Amino acid sequence: NVGKISLDQIDSLSGKSFPLCMRQLHQSLRENHHLRHGGRMQYGLFLKGIGLSLEQALQFWKMEFIRGKVDADKFDKAYAYSIRHMFGKEGKRTDYTPYSCMKVILSNPPSQGDHHGCPFRHSDPELLKQKLQVYKVSPSGINQILELVKGMHYQLACQKYFELTHNIEDSSFSLNHPNQYFLESQKLLG
Ligand code: SF4
Repeated sequence: NVGKISLDQIDSLSGKSFPLCMRQLHQSLRENHHLRHGGRMQYGLFLKGIGLSLEQALQFWKMEFIRGKVDADKFDKAYAYSIRHMFGKEGKRTDYTPYSCMKVILSNPPSQGDHHGCPFRHSDPELLKQKLQVYKVSPSGINQILELVKGMHYQLACQKYFELTHNIEDSSFSLNHPNQYFLESQKLLG
């Protein structure tokens, strides 16, 4: 599915079809013109998975980073390598695959200043609640999500968020991957 997405679609897709983890990463990137390593890996591989080509990825990250504290020269020296690496063009030439929910939930928890991770697992419930309010989830929907979070059912909480934001009663899949979330959303909306 490489090349199906154009860069100017990403903002609108992030609001409609990205799971919360990726929506949060996208928003932080746009706001700060930067993401730390963990965020670049999680989000970069997700974008690769939805069909961004290497050329698009380089353009996407560069465009954003040079709006912040990084100039084009520094970007080419310090960041372009790791993006090519993600696409298997450097180093061991492993073609890295996007992270599953389990991987995001169980490994490399975010610290202060990081925006990666799973918001259902790693965000303080009060912050999660505020975020869901901003994203216009109904109060009863928020309560249902927070109950699932309390029971440590993070993927079910995410799936509930999917149902509420796509206006469906029961999703017919069992969520285990952020890219699966995206595809299921596109099936309904596309
Ligand atoms: Fe992302 Fe998976 Fe967490 Fe949903 S459950 S926010 S897709 S890591």
